[in-house]
Order: sequence, then C-alpha cells, then structure tokens
Amino acid sequence: AGLCSPRTMGDGFHDECGVFGIQGHPDAAALAALGLHALQHRGQEACGIITHDGAHFWAEKALGLVSEAFGDAQTIDRLKGDMAIGHNRYATTGDGARRNVQPLYADLASGGFALAHNGNLTNAMALRASLVTNGAIFQSTSDTEVIVHLVALSRARGGPAERLADALRKVQGAYSLVAMAGGEVIGARDPLGIRPLTLGRLGDAHVLASESCALDIIGAECVREVAPGEMVVLGPGGLKSLFPFERTDRPRFCVFEYVYFARPDSFMEGRSVYAARKAIGAVLAAEAPVPGADIVVPVPDSGTPAAIGYAQAAGLPFELGIIRNHYVGRTFIEPGAGVRHLGVKLKHNANKRFLKDKSVVLVDDSIVRGTTSKKIVEMVRAAGAREVHMRIASPPTAHSCFYGIDTPASADLLAHTMDTEGIRAMIGADSLAYISLDGLYKAAGQAAGRDPRAPAFCDACFSGDYPVPLTDHAAGRTGAEVTGLLPGRRGKKGA
Ligand code: AMP
Repeated sequence: AGLCSPRTMGDGFHDECGVFGIQGHPDAAALAALGLHALQHRGQEACGIITHDGAHFWAEKALGLVSEAFGDAQTIDRLKGDMAIGHNRYATTGDGARRNVQPLYADLASGGFALAHNGNLTNAMALRASLVTNGAIFQSTSDTEVIVHLVALSRARGGPAERLADALRKVQGAYSLVAMAGGEVIGARDPLGIRPLTLGRLGDAHVLASESCALDIIGAECVREVAPGEMVVLGPGGLKSLFPFERTDRPRFCVFEYVYFARPDSFMEGRSVYAARKAIGAVLAAEAPVPGADIVVPVPDSGTPAAIGYAQAAGLPFELGIIRNHYVGRTFIEPGAGVRHLGVKLKHNANKRFLKDKSVVLVDDSIVRGTTSKKIVEMVRAAGAREVHMRIASPPTAHSCFYGIDTPASADLLAHTMDTEGIRAMIGADSLAYISLDGLYKAAGQAAGRDPRAPAFCDACFSGDYPVPLTDHAAGRTGAEVTGLLPGRRGKKGA
C-alpha cells in the first residue's frame, strides 16, 4: 500500500505491510491483535483493526507498535464482533501518516466496506487522476484508497466479492488484500501472487494472514496459501473460492520474502523460510568460499540463517561476533539519512574477544545503500580482525521495487551505480561476493536455477525484469501532480 505522494523516496515506495483477517470467532479483535503482533516485522509505524458485529463496524487505528496500540483490554473490548481485519504498515512521516493508517473504511451504497492491503499498485496514480476528475474525493494519499473508490463505483452484480473483483480487474501491481463487507471477510491475491497470503483455521473460524507465523501465535492451523489470482470469501456459509482474473500458470512470488522480509519461522509456498535462508548460505559458501577463513559471523538478525548455512557448508565455526541490541527498530526503517547512520551505531556492537586476529567471513542478507555494511566492517576491523570478507545472501540490489518492498530510488541503490569492486572498496572489506541469481533460485527450491523465459519468482530488484507494467512510473507520475498535497515539493523526486 504505497503512497501517492512525493514523500516516497524518488520512485521507491514505502509499503512494507502485514495483513490479517479472521471470521467466525468471538475473540476476533484479540486474535487479530495477536496476529498483527506476529507480523510486526512487516511494518512498525502504524497499525489498525476493524471489526464487524453484524450491525456495526468498529475501528481502532494508531501510529506505533501493535503492543502499544492494542496492549490494553479496553481497546480490544471496544472492537466488537466475530470478524476482524487488521493491518501493520510502514507509513510516511508527517501529515500523511495518520490518514493513511489502514484498514481503510468507507460507507458505500452497498454498505460498510473495510480494506487492508499489502503491496503496491503500479497504476494507482493514473486511476486516481481519472477518479478525481470524475468527482471522487480522496481522504488519504494511499494507493489502497483507489481500490475503495473503484469498489464504490462498481456496478457488478452479486455481493461485495464481485464488486471487489470488478475493482481489482482495473488495477495493476501487487496486492494481498483482506476486506470486510456484507458479513464476510474476503482475501485476495494478485494474479501473479507477488505478495504472500496464507489461509488458516482455528476451530470453526477462518483466518487469513500475510505469513504463517501469525497463525502459529493464535494456535491456528495452516490450511493452504491463497493461490495467485484467487479470492476467498469467508462467511457464515463457509469458504468460497473464486478466480476472477485470467489465470496464469506462471506465478511470480517475491523472492525477497525468502531473502529478508518474511520471518524465518514462516512457511511460504510450502517451504520453510529458515530452510531457504540456510540453503542460500550453503550455495553462497560453494560459490564464494574464503580460503583461510577462521570464523563465520552473521550481521544479526537478517544475516543469521544464511550465516549458519554458510558455516555448516564451509565447515567453519559460527560465532556471534556482532551483538545486536533488540530494543532498536530496524535500521532501514528509520527515516532520514542522519538517523539511519546513527541507528546502525545504536544497533550493533562487536563481540571483541571473538574477532581479534581472525579472518572473518561476515554474512548479511543484502546491501541497499551500504550504510550497514560499511559500519559493520569498520567495527569488526576495530575489534582487531585480521581480514574481513563480506558475503551477501542475495544478488546485488540494483533496481527499485514497485511491488511492495521499501527500496529507495534506483539512484540511491549502491549496486545501481557501482560494480562489486567499487562497493567492496566503499564498505572497506578485503573481499565482497554476492550469491548468483541462479544460486538464489536453487536455494529457493528451483533445482534448475532461473529459467530466463519463465522465471519462477519476481526478482525485479536483482534482475530489473518487472513482471507487472510500471504504468505510473513510465508516465513519470510521482503523485505530486495528482494529490497536490505538498505545495513547494511538487514534482520533486527523491524527497
Ligand atoms: P543498507 O545499510 O542501506 O545497505 O541496508 C542494508 C540492510 O537493510 C540489510 O542488511 C537488510 O537487513 C536491511 N534491508 C534490506 N532491504 C530492506 C527493506 N526493504 N526494508 C527494511 N530493511 C531492509
């Protein structure tokens, strides 16, 4: 759920999100809060839950963490009903933040409609411009609101699911959605299945969640994943499955979920994310060994599973040579270059005794701007390491994501402008190597590697191969000219 606003970083979007839905449980709100808590890693800036009690909708939304927003019984008690949807987001700062908190809600001619979205639409600005021209009044700068307007205008026969399907046929991009209307909870995944969505059961109740770890926390069993292009309608009559879009036999699940984004105890496409990360480390060890290395050290927490895989495959000792302070949020997520810089220092410390005089293999999941790697390499050297070899559990991140992962504009991606030797020199390592794209595919379960004619994943951030058209981006639409929200910053990129 990106923003139609120039405050997004250039052509990148802030939209890491987690969604949750539950239907048919008397404790729907409390379970939604727990589910969102398990999905906290997908977005820490804001969260919200909307419930329905058969007659009314109830909403609670807040900036901040789920434990802060939904940690008290009174808040949960205000959320009445046996069905709920919820959302975690990484929002923009400033005036846009509050009104973009999801789930969104609207009173439509057909009744109340609530919507939560993980992903990013690539033609939202084009659709928004035409909706506004026709009199639509937008309340937020979120791309998700476009879907609400399209549902409002839909003349499709049937119920909320049919109107939502009708709306979704007009949008491009990546979306895993949970919606609530007409006494039903609806889950939907974009035709290529770029973002994840899992279906679970808790007794008679149905559950939807971005990741299976959100089913685990409430003791729900995982039934299956919502299929790419599938819409599941959960109501008193049970579960109904629809395929409203042209079906593809070539889905493109986001490979970066395996690399970094998903929690390691989640399962995606039936695979353990942790196992995939360890396999990535093992492939990396085979592709980029370090002769004479003494120890393998992860950059915690993001590099840990891959480092374990690397150490095991290379037959090297695995040591926690860097300790992370868990009370600091994800470095990357703190806005502003100055704070980000400070964040890295706050977050990691060298475990000196284990690094002194060692040749160290450092493993991290990815290099984006290089801030983390540079600091960590300096820190390990300052602790007395003899050699520092950086190994990265993904190919170079050279292209911006337009489908729901928060990456900066291409120009700010180190690998967009520099080759590996340039990056090595910049971060100050003795050597630097990334896993190959083929190697990543193998580790993610594609034994034959990447088939360039039919890749099994969306890997646009590494390959530049964007599987869904970038309509707004191609038209140079930044959102500023559409929303007019931030006078003085109109059309400026890289704000
Ligand atoms: P940087 O310091 O800019 O190179 O950021 C790299 C670190 O940010 C990596 O070690 C990852 O753990 C983390 N990271 C990578 N991609 C993302 C993302 N989309 N959102 C949040 N954190 C990220």
